[in-house]
Amino acid sequence: MKEDLQVYDNVLQLIGNTPLIKLNKITREFKGEFFAKVEAFNPGHSAKDRIALYIIEEAERKGILKPDSTIIETTSGNTGFSIAMVSVIKGYECILAVSSKASNDKIDMLKTMGAKVYVCPAHVSADDPRSYYQVAKRLHSETKGSVYINQYFNELNIDAHFNSTGPEIWKQTEGKITHLVACSGTGGTISGTARYLKQQNPEVKVIGIDAYGSVLKKYHETKEFDSGEIYPYRIEGLGKNLIPSATDFEIIDRFVKVSDEDSAHTARELAKTEGLFVGYTSGAATQGLKQLAEEGEFDENSKVVVIFPDHGSRYMGKVFSDDWMEEQGFFDTKNEIEAQPIEF
Ligand code: PMP
Repeated sequence: MKEDLQVYDNVLQLIGNTPLIKLNKITREFKGEFFAKVEAFNPGHSAKDRIALYIIEEAERKGILKPDSTIIETTSGNTGFSIAMVSVIKGYECILAVSSKASNDKIDMLKTMGAKVYVCPAHVSADDPRSYYQVAKRLHSETKGSVYINQYFNELNIDAHFNSTGPEIWKQTEGKITHLVACSGTGGTISGTARYLKQQNPEVKVIGIDAYGSVLKKYHETKEFDSGEIYPYRIEGLGKNLIPSATDFEIIDRFVKVSDEDSAHTARELAKTEGLFVGYTSGAATQGLKQLAEEGEFDENSKVVVIFPDHGSRYMGKVFSDDWMEEQGFFDTKNEIEAQPIEF
């Protein structure tokens, strides 16, 4: 059992220093050793606590944030929750401009954390004044002394992981890590962590996980933005329809694409095999591991770290709902019917 009985001044002191947990069953057939960096152990249950705290504290250091200042961002996801949490403790106002596609549960969760939520129409283009991007920009320009986190285009997103996730993994693996496997959304997690690890050992191989329907893998390979790659997909937080400047494409060795369906099944499998109730993108990252192992990417000496970005509780109405899986056509009922005993 864990022996850390430290008493903390507030919840922010629990950000970072997340555990590295060995994967035992789901990777049993693969060559090498596999460890998950489980970011659900952050108090806001995701890796985004790290960037929220780091970016806000940088703004404080630079004197941009003053008591009662406002922090603005455009997300209903993990980043919104983390910014709201940090704002509560530090006494800032938190404004989140979110798309009307966001579920009521998510909006309620953000409001519960004290955020002021502007729900903006999802069907308008990014340059429409009603879009959540434009609403955030306008609020930022109108609110003196406000900070716009802008995670996709903020270099500090990379620095947050360079200064925390990277050093933690290096220490936890005693410098023996051979591969880093991580999902790429804004790219902050993979870029910052990889930048630190490659500074220690340039041989560490860095593999990004991308979604079918996202431009990242193709852009990495061709340096061209191909809008033909873009189509809707279900995994949230992974992949993108634009090129984020918070991604350092040079530091990533390769990308692997994973499907919505495989990732969903693998997320459910993680709970059943490793007892890890983690989010959809953790399933995606593990699905990436499976594909890489099948390709022969790893050998007996591989020590692979995969980042699990958040907790499973955020996906109760989705990946962990049988009804949702059924609606998506992810349960292969045809096979189940074929597997029925035949009566004569
Ligand atoms: N998984 C989830 C659930 C996320 O919310 C995000 C953030 N968009 C990621 C993975 C990817 O992390 P990053 O933005 O640092 O690339």
